[in-house]
Amino acid sequence: MDSWVVTAWEKQVLVARKALSALSWLLVIAGIGLGAVSSSLDATQRQGALLGAFAVAALALLLGSVLNRAPLLLVLISLLAIGLVSGNNISGIDPLFSELFLLGAHTVVVIGLAILLRSRLRSDARNVTADGLIVGLGAWLIVWVVLIEPSVDYLNNTGLTTAHGLSLGVAMIVLFLLATLVFSDSTPSVSLAFISGATALFLVGTIVKAVALRGNDTISNPTVDAPFVMALIILAAGFMHPTVRALQSPGVTRVSPPLMTRLVLTTASLIAPIITLALTDANSTSDRIVRTVSASILAIMVMARVVQSVRGNSLTQQRLVRSALTDSLTGLPNRVLMLEHIDAALTQAWRTNKQPTVLFIDVDRFKNINDSLGHSTGDTVLTHVASRLLLAVPPHATVARIAGDEFVILDPQTESPTQSVVLAEQILDAFREPMNTHDGDMFITGSIGVAYAPRGMHITADELMRHADTAMYRAKDAGRNCIALFDESMLATVTKRLEVETALYRALERKELHMVHQPIIDIDLGVVVGFEALMRWDRAELGVVNPAEFIPIAEETGTIVPLGSWALNDALSQLRTWIDSVVCTPSTTMSVNVSARQLHDPQFVTVVRDALSSSRISPEQLILEVTESVMITEPTQALASLQRLHSLGVRIAIDDFGTGYSSLSLLQRFPVQSIKIDRSFVSSIVTQEDTRSIVRTIIAMAKTLGADIVAEGVEDAAQLAVLASMSCSKAQGYLISRPIEVADVPRVVRELQDLQHWRTITSTTQD
Ligand code: C2E
Ligand code: CA
Ligand code: CA
Repeated sequence: MDSWVVTAWEKQVLVARKALSALSWLLVIAGIGLGAVSSSLDATQRQGALLGAFAVAALALLLGSVLNRAPLLLVLISLLAIGLVSGNNISGIDPLFSELFLLGAHTVVVIGLAILLRSRLRSDARNVTADGLIVGLGAWLIVWVVLIEPSVDYLNNTGLTTAHGLSLGVAMIVLFLLATLVFSDSTPSVSLAFISGATALFLVGTIVKAVALRGNDTISNPTVDAPFVMALIILAAGFMHPTVRALQSPGVTRVSPPLMTRLVLTTASLIAPIITLALTDANSTSDRIVRTVSASILAIMVMARVVQSVRGNSLTQQRLVRSALTDSLTGLPNRVLMLEHIDAALTQAWRTNKQPTVLFIDVDRFKNINDSLGHSTGDTVLTHVASRLLLAVPPHATVARIAGDEFVILDPQTESPTQSVVLAEQILDAFREPMNTHDGDMFITGSIGVAYAPRGMHITADELMRHADTAMYRAKDAGRNCIALFDESMLATVTKRLEVETALYRALERKELHMVHQPIIDIDLGVVVGFEALMRWDRAELGVVNPAEFIPIAEETGTIVPLGSWALNDALSQLRTWIDSVVCTPSTTMSVNVSARQLHDPQFVTVVRDALSSSRISPEQLILEVTESVMITEPTQALASLQRLHSLGVRIAIDDFGTGYSSLSLLQRFPVQSIKIDRSFVSSIVTQEDTRSIVRTIIAMAKTLGADIVAEGVEDAAQLAVLASMSCSKAQGYLISRPIEVADVPRVVRELQDLQHWRTITSTTQD
């Protein structure tokens, strides 16, 4: 790129810049030299050297400003200050003029510092300014007592005394601004540090000069001049550093603001004037007035500062408490605060005969939204829900967000269960309108559990909230987007569920599980072509538990993963035994049910491969039955597992087909070799024409996909006849056989092969 090539002109500019910068530093050194030399010279020579030093400072400052592009306003102010300070130091000048020059210099410095400060004060501005004021005022009191007030006597000149007092007074304002600048919490740049140093030296010069004046010395002597000369040279140095360009931009916030320095300085500024006042007596009425007024203002400042600090602290504390008790996304109370509200409502209700209501609201399928559209859309939905809820509840109710997508509402004033339910219905209504997100309008529903405090019975906040939570689960089970009112029987359900959960953990190692098998026949041939393996749980004293009761719990807790692989191994090794003992043909298939959770287990494919190899069953004899829901929730993950299984040669069947929402496009994407028509269609196939046309469509679709078709839940011969007429190839159901124990399989298979047997079952059911 040609921008990297330095042209000859640019080279020259660079050289020139270097030369100028070297020159300006030379000037600074010359200035220091002149200042130092001046002390050993006689009066007139010294005057010359001094003026030379000032001129050099001005020149260096100008050069630096041009090189570093310093802010023009600040350059002008600095030059003016240099001019005025040199005026102050001209020897032989009338002391009054000298004082006036000094006063002018201080005023100009005040303006300069104010400009600097404006851009550098931040959040802590008030406290910083107050501390600066305390320092300025404290110094003022001392300066007044020690220097200004006595000057009335020794100067013996009203004009001079006034000018002297004024310039010292303004100097204290300079001190105030300087302190504020130093205290501020933006990091000082090199330039700013030089300028602050120069200002400090300037103040030192002013005080030295005042002390000298008191001693009635000649005004221009080396001790008095030195600080002024140094101040101006340092000021010039400040303008020679590149950071001068950024003087008016706010600096980087300091990681550790100079809190300790501030504390020490302000405390000193308080103690020193107190000691001064205590050790000296007022000389006149005007002295007394100035002392009293100054001390009072100082006291007020300190008071204000203390009040400010205390208030600041309590605000910070409030903010901390609030953040511990509210949810940061919605600003609603969190669980802890909500429990406190409920607790207060319950205590109140004890006296007022009210029955506070707690609603537990869970956003339906929120996990899907979060997983598929991302967390920021999820957050938008949650904030929408929060504001909907706030709008829907009466003003005395409280809305809280207690976890991810769980909200709780408390109405402390309801008086009957009916009112509780009415409130819940209002909330359900609040969800009806679509919610606007950047992914478009979205229909969100919620499941609501309702619980109210029983009259005359003690209940804790925690219990009431748990009751509402339990009821919410019931609402979810009932198909979501609805309300469930808590009753005691739900607790029994929950307890039972908990019990099942723990017992299920042990079921495998206690060998309480076994598989039963339901034959699947080929309708045309009337022979057993396969089995479906179904799980049973033998709980000694409780009897046999059906899968509908424990599979959902096993799925939720994840126990289905080990249970499922055990089932798979058991079913396949059983099939091997039957094939080897010629109970069934060598090509008989085994259908095993698989939950979504199992497909998401990264080990699943390996488990299947191992089960196949240890039972020496060929992969195409294994049919894995999955439901349509697998294809809808997290389809990509399920698809990946299914495709790997498919490439092993294993067959996939869609179970309970027609009850979910699978679309044709999904079916096309998934490697499906078999479709199981759900029981609900089969049961009405004889009586309803609608069902028949649906089933006809499903069968036609399966044919185009090249998939096999199995009708499940066939209970009578008429159903089988209709299915046969539609050329459905396979059937399974009570008509053929119930799921049976392993020991009964040889007998049942033999019976099913007997044509006579077929004739009897078909004729008995048709009678
Ligand atoms: P499914 O996969 O739809 O299994 C068929 C269910 O229908 C079985 O209930 C079976 O006994 C029943 N059934 C069969 N023929 C008829 C009939 O003619 N009429 C009627 N009314 N019912 C019939 P089961 O054994 O209670 O299993 C219930 C569900 O539990 C199964 O439904 C399946 O989803 C699940 N399940 C069973 N075993 C397992 C397993 O090992 N793993 C997994 N993941 N799920 C299993
Ligand atoms: Ca099944
Ligand atoms: Ca089924």
